Amino acid sequence: MQELEERIQKEGIVKPGNVLKVDAFLNHQCDCALFDAMGAAWAQHFKNTQINKILTIESSGIGIACVAARHFGNVPVVFAKKAQSINLDGDQYVSTVFSFTKQREFPVIVSRKYLSADDRVLILDDFLANGKALQGLIDICDHAGAAVAGIGIAIEKGFQGGGDALREAGYDLDSLAIVESMDPNDGSITFRQ
Ligand code: 5GP
Repeated sequence: MQELEERIQKEGIVKPGNVLKVDAFLNHQCDCALFDAMGAAWAQHFKNTQINKILTIESSGIGIACVAARHFGNVPVVFAKKAQSINLDGDQYVSTVFSFTKQREFPVIVSRKYLSADDRVLILDDFLANGKALQGLIDICDHAGAAVAGIGIAIEKGFQGGGDALREAGYDLDSLAIVESMDPNDGSITFRQ
């Protein structure tokens, strides 16, 4: 998606340790017009996929998923929580994920009330690196017996391999920008075409 690649080039900051910061429009300040264009792009890609629910993970996935849902007939958006809370009642699906950015494990939790074997799910998230966060969400869908009908990602770091592994496993993965390389020394970023 050209508009997203241009924003990454202009406002993305390459940090050491393979971290791309896009706080200016995605992870801190949100550009909702850009989110809307991203939702339209996913709706085009997944137009023949009968999804009835979007699943994402807190926190940055939520804004993207809620705007995207407007392009999918306002299907409900469920976001996985990363910590137990007294607000989480009843039975839950739980998986464990290793966080790339925080370098530690955390739980991924979804209430059984909001995901079931009747669901055809589109999973959305902001970043895809090694694929651990997505694997946690896929595990949760598997526990629920829900079908993973597609996966939409804003920014995939292609050189970290998580996306290619998911494609090889047969998932319909639509990443709107795939970073091929990035250099923290000169700040350069290239994209897979
Ligand atoms: P994975 O689980 O695929 O290794 O990493 C994906 C998760 O880690 C995303 O949900 C995102 O929150 C975070 N993440 C991974 N790489 C980056 C990055 O370069 N920049 C930012 N902002 N988040 C990242």
